[in-house]
Amino acid sequence: MLLASLSLSIRIKCLKYVVYQIIMQEALIVDDVLEEFVYGKISSPRAKNIISPTKKLIETARKSKVPIIYVCDAHLPSDPEMDVWGPHAMKGTRGAQVVQAIKPSKGDYIFEKRVYSSFQGTGLELLLRDLSVDTVVIVGLLTEICVRHSAADAFMRGFKVKIPKDCVEALSEKAQREGIEYLKKMYGAEITTSVKISQRWSRGL
Ligand code: ZN
Repeated sequence: MLLASLSLSIRIKCLKYVVYQIIMQEALIVDDVLEEFVYGKISSPRAKNIISPTKKLIETARKSKVPIIYVCDAHLPSDPEMDVWGPHAMKGTRGAQVVQAIKPSKGDYIFEKRVYSSFQGTGLELLLRDLSVDTVVIVGLLTEICVRHSAADAFMRGFKVKIPKDCVEALSEKAQREGIEYLKKMYGAEITTSVKISQRWSRGL
């Protein structure tokens, strides 16, 4: 009744909105939760804080059929980051392995990367387009480095960005605070929590 009273153009807009809501979806990007960043050379006690909430978020994503995409440093000695950080998370080493608590499962996607951003040289964008994803939920390490650069590339490719703040960490409290603020200010990232995202996914939204 209400729909019939609307003009054709408004009805088309409503229909497009409904179709968009049905077709488009979120994906969970798990960025660099690796041995090197949690227990190794570039670790800090803060990194361990994200393991438990991230594990729960991943479990909810699996149950809710939200695609889970791990993107992991797998460096070569010639990579540009070597001059900044020295060798870390080198391809094929223990440091480049996802930590045991949140190991990928069958059906998850895994990409290797050689620079900060999860989008550079990985094929992530193509996968997201194939899966009709319009929003990425980014978790992992470190807030002010890889998470920031992945969020930047997501934003510049037209994806919406959501950050559960309990599932990202930086090397210091100041870096975390400023890193989160930067994500919000520069990329319009929705800063939220893993509990809020899990509740929504559990309801199929
Ligand atoms: Zn790296």
